[in-house]
Amino acid sequence: MDLSYFLPRTDLLLGTGVFSKLGEETAKVGKAALVVTGKSSMKRLGFLDKAVESLESAGVSATVFSGAEPNPTLQNVKDGASLCIENKCDVVVALGGGSSMDAAKAIAIAAGHNDIENAWEYIVGKKATTEKTIPVVAVTSTSGSGSHVTMYSVVTNREKNEKAGFGSEFMFPRKSIYDVEITKHLPPKVTAESGFDVLAHVMEAFTNKKSNAIVDPWCLKAMELVAANLEKAFNNGEDIEARKGMAIADTLAGFAISAVGVNTIHPISNTVSGFYPEIAHGQALATLSQTVMKYNIENGSVELVKRYAQIAQALGQNVSGEMGKEDALLSVKAVGELRKKIGLEKGLADLGVLAEKFPEIAKTALKLYLGAIQSNPSKVDNEEIITKFFEESK
Ligand code: NDP
Ligand code: MN
Repeated sequence: MDLSYFLPRTDLLLGTGVFSKLGEETAKVGKAALVVTGKSSMKRLGFLDKAVESLESAGVSATVFSGAEPNPTLQNVKDGASLCIENKCDVVVALGGGSSMDAAKAIAIAAGHNDIENAWEYIVGKKATTEKTIPVVAVTSTSGSGSHVTMYSVVTNREKNEKAGFGSEFMFPRKSIYDVEITKHLPPKVTAESGFDVLAHVMEAFTNKKSNAIVDPWCLKAMELVAANLEKAFNNGEDIEARKGMAIADTLAGFAISAVGVNTIHPISNTVSGFYPEIAHGQALATLSQTVMKYNIENGSVELVKRYAQIAQALGQNVSGEMGKEDALLSVKAVGELRKKIGLEKGLADLGVLAEKFPEIAKTALKLYLGAIQSNPSKVDNEEIITKFFEESK
């Protein structure tokens, strides 16, 4: 078999003003909504009140859970799921970034299976998600995680220092609403972090062992869009065209990772955030991406090296056309330049990660993410290699 693929299963509305459709779209899926949002941004900007209004005027009742923290926790999931069951909600509406959307998906599973006590077992794949999962409607407020169209959720267990990701066909949001009027309020720091997440998704999908001719054009297009728009959105949040470019890139990246997954950058970055939940997802990715890219180029096949040269080209580097190692290494340079332009230059030490923790984090990464790590195109099969990635990212 050359490839296996299924179409994304989310109905998406994207553009300026589509937020007003939330009630109408949700009413197609359920009658009683649990609205899952973050600590304060959506309330402060007025979008939470508008969401409740829109739902109620379409005949959908709304219960608000505003507890999804950045790097959402198992406790957030349990609290949200209790509220969901208590209020007999039959649809979960996520209003926020990746953290709110991922929390919403995990809540939909814990509540849908009426199994809050074992919520972590679903997240680490010990229990299977089924059609009992409550449908999710996603309103994304960042251009980042792709979670509005992915089948994944990533949740942190603070007691175990573990940030684990899981996914299933039941976790695709049924409806997704992407209004750039919301993302234009992102502060530069979150624009940078979430925007880098988009780039990491497509660089990883494009160099994953399963990457294929269907997913490749999405990845390359998304890279071009990030190169053309991320710095602009970072410097001027109100630049709607730049915001739209990032929204499309974010969506293409979500499709790509749902189809083929990531490689090693996401697993090790997520594991770092599991130990240090205050480190934003996008910052962890920015810190660790260049060392993994270099390793893949140094140890990769001719075909893989060519792929990194294509990344360099899509990111606007002047490649020679030979598409050998020299061109491939320009992709690492491009990422370094981008990090500088958008303020994501910090190394692990600047982020407070202790060097003595490196081996333990490496071991945990292999425990939680072996499958994803094995899909890396060059072999990363032991703690020493991962520890070295950390040492080179200090
Ligand atoms: P978050 O959802 O964590 O949000 C980051 C911060 O931005 C929060 O403080 C939030 O505030 C604020 N914020 C969000 N939207 C706005 C806005 N429009 N205006 C002003 N402030 C805003 O960020 P990301 O979207 O980057 O999500 C990261 C998470 O997504 C990680 O946990 C990561 O692991 C996960 N992820 C999931 C994937 C998937 O496929 N499911 C793939 C990749 C990453 P407040 O809390 O107050 O709302
Ligand atoms: Mn990500």
